[in-house]
Amino acid sequence: MSTADFTAAPQDHDWTSAAVAKIEADFNRSADTHLIKLNLPCLDGVDLYLKDESTHPSGSLKHRLARSLFLYGLCNGWITKDSPITEASSGSTAISEGYFARLLGLPFIAVMPAGTAAEKVAQIEFYGGECRFVDEPGAIYAEAERLAEDLGGHYMDQFTFAERATDWRGNNNIAESMFAQMGRERFALPRWVVVSAGTGGTASTIGRFIRYRSGAFGQTQLCVVDPENSVFFDFYRTGDRGLTTERGSRIEGIGRPRVEPSFLPTVVDRMIQVPDAASIATVWWLETILGRKCGASTGTNLYGALQLIAEMLERGERGSVVTMICDPGERYLDSYFDRDWLAAEKLDIAPCLEQLEGFSKTGKLG
Ligand SMILES: *Cc1c(COP(=O)(O)O)cnc(C)c1O
Repeated sequence: MSTADFTAAPQDHDWTSAAVAKIEADFNRSADTHLIKLNLPCLDGVDLYLKDESTHPSGSLKHRLARSLFLYGLCNGWITKDSPITEASSGSTAISEGYFARLLGLPFIAVMPAGTAAEKVAQIEFYGGECRFVDEPGAIYAEAERLAEDLGGHYMDQFTFAERATDWRGNNNIAESMFAQMGRERFALPRWVVVSAGTGGTASTIGRFIRYRSGAFGQTQLCVVDPENSVFFDFYRTGDRGLTTERGSRIEGIGRPRVEPSFLPTVVDRMIQVPDAASIATVWWLETILGRKCGASTGTNLYGALQLIAEMLERGERGSVVTMICDPGERYLDSYFDRDWLAAEKLDIAPCLEQLEGFSKTGKLG
């Protein structure tokens, strides 16, 4: 009897090992992100925290994802010496992947919806990446995949791999870091964690971690907030995986035109749909408390957190609520912080600003 035998083309393990070492060293040089306690006079018996993911070297929570996706691609043998990297992105992921592609000396091409914030495009190009645009928000995936095939490169596919590239059991993932930083607070076990979903990866990591460590964090519930022009909320409500929208989300980084594979509804306890005007008004309001600007998805997160807090106060419940700053507002000076842009989009933030002023005084979101 003879055996069949086939040897694959040899891979350059020295290059892979050097690439992994570069990413690990970059991680070792990085500090953890802050957990900010937001003190509001109306919050009597409920404490509110913001995990500040805007302070990563590449400026958003996507720094964690990009690091995980590169390590996953390298250790799977998908990213090799000289492989061009492509990605479908609304911008933040592409900035962070551009950062890591430069670190490894790999070419990087981002495929984005037309109209992505100019500041984001400039940052991708700053890291040496190239930007290509498509008119239909739903066309980014196929175009990024086609480009990788044509170039003999690797399509990162964040929307598929976000939930599995991250070490959800720990390794200082966002959940482990957040819960550890809550350790010395008076309500160390959060009642709610509130996040928004782009890939759904952050929600999946936190939701799994809550279950994995349910001995410690079993009383914590996960709420996902969703903007207008996104299918996640209706998918969560109906279970219909085939839902799509034509119009892209106006809240950059979150809300998707299709149900993304990395969004896992079974780890989510509740969803709240937040109007875009409320998301934007909330970051204007937050600036008056924090002294700096944040991206609009931070507003979506915070508005959802305030709704949950108002419910807790109403019931006389005590506890803590943790949510997140996703990226800095400087990326959006010509959109969310520009009155002409708001007018052109027919977004009136005045009523919601008034509502938030009221909340500051009374703890009611009436
Ligand atoms: C990606 C992103 C999110 C959502 O995070 P996911 O883990 O992808 O669901 C929120 N805000 C911003 C600015 C983002 O870029």
